Amino acid sequence: MKTVIQTKEIPVVKKVDVLVAGGGPAGIAAAIASARNGAKTVLLEKHGFLGGMGTAALVNPFMSYFSGRTQLVKGVFQEVVDRLKERGAYGGTGHAWSFEPEEYKFTLNELALESGVELLFHTYVVDAVTEDGSITGVVIESKSGRQVIEAKAYIDCTGDGDLAARAGAEFKVGRESDGQVQPASIMFKMGGVNNRRKAWEYAVEDARLPQGRVLFFKMPREGEVVINMTRIVNVNALDGEDLSRAEIEGRKQVKEIVDYLVENVEGFDNAYLITTGPQIGIRESRRIMGEYVLKTEDVLECQKFDDAIAHCSYMIDIHNPTGAGTEKVILPKGQWYDIPYRCLLPKDLNNLLVAGRCISATHEAHSSLRIQPTCYALGEAAGVAASIAVQESISPKQVSVEKIREKIDLVVSHA
Ligand SMILES: Cc1cc2nc3c(=O)[nH]c(=O)nc-3n(C[C@H](O)[C@H](O)[C@H](O)COP(=O)(O)OP(=O)(O)OC[C@H]3O[C@@H](n4cnc5c(N)ncnc54)[C@H](O)[C@@H]3O)c2cc1C
Repeated sequence: MKTVIQTKEIPVVKKVDVLVAGGGPAGIAAAIASARNGAKTVLLEKHGFLGGMGTAALVNPFMSYFSGRTQLVKGVFQEVVDRLKERGAYGGTGHAWSFEPEEYKFTLNELALESGVELLFHTYVVDAVTEDGSITGVVIESKSGRQVIEAKAYIDCTGDGDLAARAGAEFKVGRESDGQVQPASIMFKMGGVNNRRKAWEYAVEDARLPQGRVLFFKMPREGEVVINMTRIVNVNALDGEDLSRAEIEGRKQVKEIVDYLVENVEGFDNAYLITTGPQIGIRESRRIMGEYVLKTEDVLECQKFDDAIAHCSYMIDIHNPTGAGTEKVILPKGQWYDIPYRCLLPKDLNNLLVAGRCISATHEAHSSLRIQPTCYALGEAAGVAASIAVQESISPKQVSVEKIREKIDLVVSHA
């Protein structure tokens, strides 16, 4: 059954050069890069803070952005790290790349505002207006009601590819065999932990645990850890009812795991739950099909591309979509693969870029590139590209990759 609602005209409330949807790692870097390159830029975020999964879902730490001693991601990401270090909110006594989420929120607001980005919080991207293969406006919903913002170029950094999908872009979800995606997880923080071992040294495996293992990361503050041990399978992150079921099931698992850790794991005897993430963590949903689809072999063979705009050395890391266990394939030591600019360009739309975990890739390639530092690198390249497209009145598809590279800190020259 369907109901037709008579809608009134939706007012256009803002006109900008570049509109960025989603304020996670990709969106932050995209908006900052775009604004710094002279474009009037607005960043839309459904939460009241920036950071994406790193704040909204308590994801920690930043996964490796090095290949051996070579640092693969710098740019805006490095600025974030530097500020976190100044605040004593990075690494500390914990994992080398862990960060304190509240300080991270302050830091991201500062960097975005200093660069001239307009931040619109509590703003949901709900639809797109299109004409002849281009987006002419984005429909948003907030406490102000339904409104339209018009831009010359758009960047979808929603993680779920919401804007691209609403604009009609082709996308894929899940693995090729059955469309199943990686499970969702509610991450949580505990204090009062006295445990000297590192996450990857931990061998406690127990069938009572949804991941089948103990997995936690030390935070900058002494005695605090974030725990990545819940696992909710068969969650379609694009379905409101599924998300609700996952939040309920995930929170139930949190309680059981806290009790398990306190009773069974060395150093947790006096530990207590500090907080859960405000929302469930989503590893995987839409992948927007672009001018190039990054292949599994590209990752495994450490492929290099002439139009590289980012590098990544993180392993293929697929949490079993249907149960316990994780499939991991580590890349050769000291190696990395390139991500081509074409993966950011949806095939079917002229003035849209995508950045972050929803770029054009296979399910397996996505499981590697989805880490936060790489999403920063992808966002920064997209932000620069969008601003150049606006300056030159061309489609992002026509932007010179050389010009993008002049503005991003692509640390390793193309091999
Ligand atoms: C449980 C879990 C553990 C992980 N572990 C690690 C780890 O240890 N290290 C690591 O580096 N990475 C890890 N990852 C991966 C990483 O967190 C994400 O892949 C990464 O954050 C993706 O960045 P993004 O900018 O593409 O999207 P996101 O971080 O998802 O940000 C998207 C933003 O867009 C907003 N948004 C979404 N839809 C809309 C809309 N329609 N309108 C307005 N705003 C919208 C969201 O609120 C969010 O702020 C993990 C992920 C999960 C879920």
